[in-house]
Amino acid sequence: MYTVKSILLSSALLLPAYALFAQTKPEDTEVWTPVPAVVTPGVGTAPPSDAIVLFNGSNLDQWVSDKGDRPAPWTLQDGAMTVAKGKGAIKTKASFEDFQLHIEFRTPSVVKGEGQGRGNSGIFLQEQYELQVLDSYENKTYSNGQAGSIYKQSIPLVNACRKPGEWQTYDVIWTAPRFNNDGSVQSPARITVLQNGILVQNNTEIKGKTQYIGKPYYTKHGALPLMLQDHGDLVSFRNIWIRKL
Ligand code: MG
Repeated sequence: MYTVKSILLSSALLLPAYALFAQTKPEDTEVWTPVPAVVTPGVGTAPPSDAIVLFNGSNLDQWVSDKGDRPAPWTLQDGAMTVAKGKGAIKTKASFEDFQLHIEFRTPSVVKGEGQGRGNSGIFLQEQYELQVLDSYENKTYSNGQAGSIYKQSIPLVNACRKPGEWQTYDVIWTAPRFNNDGSVQSPARITVLQNGILVQNNTEIKGKTQYIGKPYYTKHGALPLMLQDHGDLVSFRNIWIRKL
């Protein structure tokens, strides 16, 4: 004869072990706080409501020359800023640690040069780590130096370039490196990049400060500006915004 007790016991034995310890109500696994902040997405290419706008096409007020504390010497025209050849890099007045960045760039429509000499600029995260900007549309160069690469560190997953003269986007998630008191690396920087909405760097570990010659290495630092490279090509930028994380 099956008693109620024996039925309950036998059915309990058939249950997986985790079920015996499982919570009994749906509410037990609901988490109500913290409540994520409400952010209003931008319409079209406009920044979301909580972004720090670094460039909206009207002025270079958020930027300075990398050669001392002087106004950014780049050209402002038609809602875009363009490298002033030979005048040097520009950087933000503000410093950043972990962030989400949106930036749009355009390499020259008049194609000249080849390899690294075609539409070269760069976005230096925390002033030290270069996300390459290059006209890599039918332009051969070393893979770890093409557009979407972490220069000389990480080849992009794909070549997501639009044609020269067309506006392109980078959306970047940056996790800054952390350092111990003695200057050693506690955790390296990490980067995720979408180029024109296509994943090109997927949580890539940064090996250290970008080097043209030799291996990258880290030097202890805190929050630092964003920097845009003057590599002698007339690369333009627009619609730059950042969200601190
Ligand atoms: Mg570059």
